[in-house]
Amino acid sequence: MGSMESVAVCETCPRHCRLAEGALGYCHARRNVNGRVVAANYGKITSLALDPIEKKPIAFFHPGANVLSVGSFGCNLRCPFCQNDSISQVGEGEVSFQKATPSELASLALRLKDERGNIGLAYTYNEPLVGWEFVRDCAKEVHDRGMLNILVSNGCVESDVVKELAPLLDAANIDLKGPSQKYYDWVGGDFDAVCSTITTLNQAGCHVEVTVLIVPGRNDEEGDVDAIAAFVASVSPDIPLHVTRFFPRFRMTDASPTPVSTVRRLAEVARRRLVHVLTGNC
Ligand code: SF4
Repeated sequence: MGSMESVAVCETCPRHCRLAEGALGYCHARRNVNGRVVAANYGKITSLALDPIEKKPIAFFHPGANVLSVGSFGCNLRCPFCQNDSISQVGEGEVSFQKATPSELASLALRLKDERGNIGLAYTYNEPLVGWEFVRDCAKEVHDRGMLNILVSNGCVESDVVKELAPLLDAANIDLKGPSQKYYDWVGGDFDAVCSTITTLNQAGCHVEVTVLIVPGRNDEEGDVDAIAAFVASVSPDIPLHVTRFFPRFRMTDASPTPVSTVRRLAEVARRRLVHVLTGNC
């Protein structure tokens, strides 16, 4: 019975992994330590770069600014088209990292303010919310220094996580990868959870933009993008939507890139419902 007692359920995302003592979750980022599920990737930085904010992509929040962008390892989804699988689909021991504290990162962000036009810290590259405690702790330090927090996420987490972070986030780009649970079954996520994240962040006053990656044969029908645009418009027709082009990566290297004409046509479909629709990777 002793080992049964140490099983812990992770409440971070809808997958609700049941973890034996010492076990890692599906995302490679959370672990049961002494009966408590903690972020095993806390402060373990695989990527750190000063990026233009447009690269997130964020188009209507401090355009032209740079943002210090930080990533760790791990993700709770398994998109076969992942563009960042070398850090998102691996755990500790499969990728090199440097350690940094929230205070160190926030201080670096501040140093880069005058030198390089940095406006804050972006949590991105892998899925930041599988290590949401690090996002929370960094975000507090960043706000203490009068700078901004930007989240780039798949949005597939439980509402308690979003509610705790929302007051600390100034802008976010959330993927809405497909129009239905059927699509999210393919990538291993929860459609309703993602929709709820977008709604909650918007209601909290965070600047929200949404991205859909158009994957040929999967979500490239006009009805798919119309349904995504309809949901986004139901939250607010002013939310910018980025309609972006797929390139063959990870488990889909045998597929062809999305034709640029398809991306442009689908962007037109979304424009029937939304004020700001942008194309990406074209
Ligand atoms: S965040 Fe990770 S450990 Fe927690 S339920 Fe999701 S996949 Fe499992």
